[in-house]
Amino acid sequence: MKAVFIQKHGSADVLEYGERPMPVPGPADALVRLAACGVNFIDIYHRGGLYKIDLPFTLGVEGAGTVEHVGSGVTDLAPGDRVAWAMEPGAYATHAKVAAWRLVKIPPQTSFESAAAAMLQGMTAHYLVHSTFPLAARHTALIHAAAGGTGLLLVQMAKRLGARVIGTAGTEAKAALAREAGADEVILYSQTDFAAETRRLTSGAGVDVVYDSVGKTTFEGSLNSLKPRGMMVSFGNASGAVPDFPPLLLAQKGSLFLTRPNLAHYATTREEIAWRAGDVLGWIGEGSLKLRIDKSYPLSEAAQAHRDLESRATAGKLILIP
Ligand code: NDP
Repeated sequence: MKAVFIQKHGSADVLEYGERPMPVPGPADALVRLAACGVNFIDIYHRGGLYKIDLPFTLGVEGAGTVEHVGSGVTDLAPGDRVAWAMEPGAYATHAKVAAWRLVKIPPQTSFESAAAAMLQGMTAHYLVHSTFPLAARHTALIHAAAGGTGLLLVQMAKRLGARVIGTAGTEAKAALAREAGADEVILYSQTDFAAETRRLTSGAGVDVVYDSVGKTTFEGSLNSLKPRGMMVSFGNASGAVPDFPPLLLAQKGSLFLTRPNLAHYATTREEIAWRAGDVLGWIGEGSLKLRIDKSYPLSEAAQAHRDLESRATAGKLILIP
């Protein structure tokens, strides 16, 4: 089979496209022929070595396709089923072995491309607003990179719950997309002190929660944007990992709460995945959650997709087509 893999960590140049052995599914797995693979920032962390993996490694943790074969212990899937998944490596490929409990069936009206675009970022936005800090109409949330793949879904899901949303974005064009997704206000954080602007927009009060996927460059400003006892949800490192800091800082900034969540711990069972993915794919199917697929690349051009994502050139989702 064809796949995109790495034999060493580094820039997008280390991505290799070529032949890899066909995966052999175990009794609890399915073998899926991929129709579309999702590109995520986590793929850049795997490639660069920020998140530890064993080499060689086939990149990609999100995909959609058709079941070709199921293991002897799998009773609820059959060859021909249209399925999608997130959080299992090996998706930048023509075929992947996936644990059956992670697979969800794609509704008939939903394309493979949409399913591959929605699973990881959609379930992430879902757990952030429903489980990590359950949003309600009384809350104001600050959402960084609001025009990113995860950001656009997060803004829409926060608005579904009635919260006031202040977004940040790097350019005016991205700010317009965040507003279109429902953000009440958008701050151009490349030009404006977003913490001061957030204070101004909240009459000095600060926000109840910050969903911060940018990391290093926004961390301290995010703490400065919160109400006393507000919740800092640091869920990504697009600008680099947050440096070490003393817990006393949280007291000084207002007895803040800090969490560093990961989708892996919010999609731990078949039931939890069915709930989150069912909501996400259901809302997309009925048209109440809009997906923005910014660009689709042939699988062999995965390196270009990485370059585009890490250079902040994209707004919305990138997918690869094997
Ligand atoms: P995005 O589409 O959001 O792309 C990243 C965006 O971050 C850029 O477009 C850019 O938007 C912004 N950004 C700010 N500073 C930088 C920088 N120095 N370099 C690159 N980008 C920067 O990507 P994803 O939706 O795939 O992921 C967003 C984040 O969410 C990542 O940090 C990812 O790790 C995290 N994540 C975490 C999960 C979890 O469970 N913890 C699961 C899924 C995603 P702008 O130009 O507007 O600033």
